[in-house]
Amino acid sequence: MAGLSSAVALAEAGLEVCLLEKRPRLGGRATSYTLPDGSEVDNCQHVTLGCCTNLADFYRRAEADSKIRFYDKLYFADGRGRRSVIRAWPLPPPLHLAPSFLFFGALTMADKRAIAHAMLAIARAGGEPPGAPGMSMLDWLHSMRQTPGAIERFWRVVLVSALNEELARTDAIYGIAVFWKAFLASRGGYRLGIPSVPLAELYQGCRDAIVHRKGEIRLRTGVREIRLRDGRFAGVVLEDGTEMAADACIAAVPHDVLREMLPPELSAKGAPLEGLRRLRASPITGVHLWYDRPVMTEPFLALLDHTTQWIFNRTLLHAAEPSVGNSEHGAEGDEASRQYLQLVISASYDLAPRPRQEIIELCRKELADVLPATRSAALVKATVIKEIDATFSPEPGADAWRPAARAAAQKLYLAGDWTRTGWPATMEGAVRSGYLAAEAALSDFGCPRELVRQDPPFEGLSRRWARQTRGRPG
Ligand SMILES: Cc1cc2nc3c(=O)[nH]c(=O)nc-3n(C[C@H](O)[C@H](O)[C@H](O)COP(=O)(O)OP(=O)(O)OC[C@H]3O[C@@H](n4cnc5c(N)ncnc54)[C@H](O)[C@@H]3O)c2cc1C
Repeated sequence: MAGLSSAVALAEAGLEVCLLEKRPRLGGRATSYTLPDGSEVDNCQHVTLGCCTNLADFYRRAEADSKIRFYDKLYFADGRGRRSVIRAWPLPPPLHLAPSFLFFGALTMADKRAIAHAMLAIARAGGEPPGAPGMSMLDWLHSMRQTPGAIERFWRVVLVSALNEELARTDAIYGIAVFWKAFLASRGGYRLGIPSVPLAELYQGCRDAIVHRKGEIRLRTGVREIRLRDGRFAGVVLEDGTEMAADACIAAVPHDVLREMLPPELSAKGAPLEGLRRLRASPITGVHLWYDRPVMTEPFLALLDHTTQWIFNRTLLHAAEPSVGNSEHGAEGDEASRQYLQLVISASYDLAPRPRQEIIELCRKELADVLPATRSAALVKATVIKEIDATFSPEPGADAWRPAARAAAQKLYLAGDWTRTGWPATMEGAVRSGYLAAEAALSDFGCPRELVRQDPPFEGLSRRWARQTRGRPG
C-alpha cells in the first residue's frame, strides 16, 4: 500500500515511475491469492474505519472506493453468544455512541461508569491526555481506575485487534488515539469499511494509473541492494544482479528487509536508521472455514471472552447485494449454500507455535458458543494462515524508532507502515507514509504538492474541547 500509493501519486504528478515488486502480485500484506482448489482467499481479512481519510483517498485514486462497503452497526457477541450492537445516535460527538454503551449487555454498570470516566478524560483533553505518552496502555487504564471487566471486555477487545498487540505491550498514545479518532472525535470515525471483493482486485486501478502514464510495474522483480554514493541514492541492484539507475527511489519494503538492503552503518547504534534494529513485530493468525450451509446471519461479529476476536461472514460480505440477517441461499449442503467464514486473532503469540489442526479445533469449539448452527453443520474445508511478522509492535517508546521519509539519504525516501506517520501499522498508516514520501520527492524535484489528507474534522463537544486544550479545532 505504501509503494502503490506513492507510485500512483507520483505518476499522477507527471513523474515516470517504475515499481519493482518481488512477488507475483500487488498489495503486499494486504492482498489475496488463489488456493489450489480455486478459492480466492485474502492473506487476512482487512478492514478500514471512517477516520482513515488517506486510505479512502487512495481507494478513490485507484477507482476501488465503490468496492468498499461501510457498516454503521458493529456487532458483538459475549461468551454465551448474547449479542450487543454499537451504532451512532443523533447526539453530538463524543456522546453519539454513549447510548449504545449504556445498553451494551456484556458490561456491568460499574464497567460502564469506569469506561465513561476514561472516555471523557480522552475527549476533554482533545485526544491528548497529559501523562499518557511512554506509559503502557494497561498502566494508563489502571491509572484511570478501569474495572477488570472494562479492561477485558471492552478496551482489550477493541485495541488488540486495532493495534495487534497486548495492552501491557502497547504505548498508551496509540491506544488513546484509536478511541479518539474512531469513537470520540467525529460521528463517522467508527464506521467499519470492508472490501466486497478479494483484496487483490482493489489494485487493478493502480496498474492503470501507473502504466497509462508511461510508468511501469515489474512483478517478480526483487531488489537485493540499494546503493548510495556520497550520502545520495545511486541506484539499485536487482536479485538477478542487474543494476538499475533512477533519479530518486522510494523504498517501501518492510523495515527488516530494508535493513538488509542498505549499508550496515546506516542502522548501527546512533545512526539515523538505528530504529530498524529496534522495532519488533507481532503476529496475526487468520482461520478460514467453509461450512456446508449458512451458520451466521450477521456480516461480522467481534467476540468477547474468546481466543477468536473477529468472525467475518465472507459469503455475505462478498454477496452482490448483502441483506443483513438473511444469508440463506440455495439448498442445504449444495455448493451455492456453503458459507465461508474468516476468523482473525491478533497478537496471536500463543497460537503461533501450535499445530494448524489444533487451532481449527479451538476455533470450531468457540464458534459453537456464538453460532449454534455450526454444531450441526459440516466443515467442508479449513485453512490457517499465520503471519508471524504481521505488523510492528507499538510498544512503549516504539514511536521514537520510526524514521521519517527523508531519514536515509538524499533522493532516497522511506515509506511503509513502520515509518513515522503517527499512525499504527495499518493500511491508513501505509498510505500516509506513501504520500509523505511522494511529497518529499516532489518537493525535491521542484514541484511540491500536498497529498496527505487531514483527519476528519472534529465535531460537537469534541471540537470545542479540542480547541480549548490543543488551541486548534482539528
Ligand atoms: C494478517 C494481517 C492482518 C491485517 N489487518 C489489517 C486490517 O484489518 N486493517 C488495516 O488497516 N491493516 C491491517 N493490516 C496491516 C496492513 O496490512 C499493513 O499495515 C499494510 O498493508 C502495510 O503496507 P506496506 O506497504 O507498508 O508494507 P507491505 O504490505 O509489507 O509491502 C511491502 C512490499 O514490498 C515487497 N518487497 C519485499 N521485499 C522486496 C524486495 N527485496 N524487492 C522488491 N519488493 C520487495 C513485498 O512483496 C510487499 O509487496 C494487517 C496485516 C496483516 C499481516
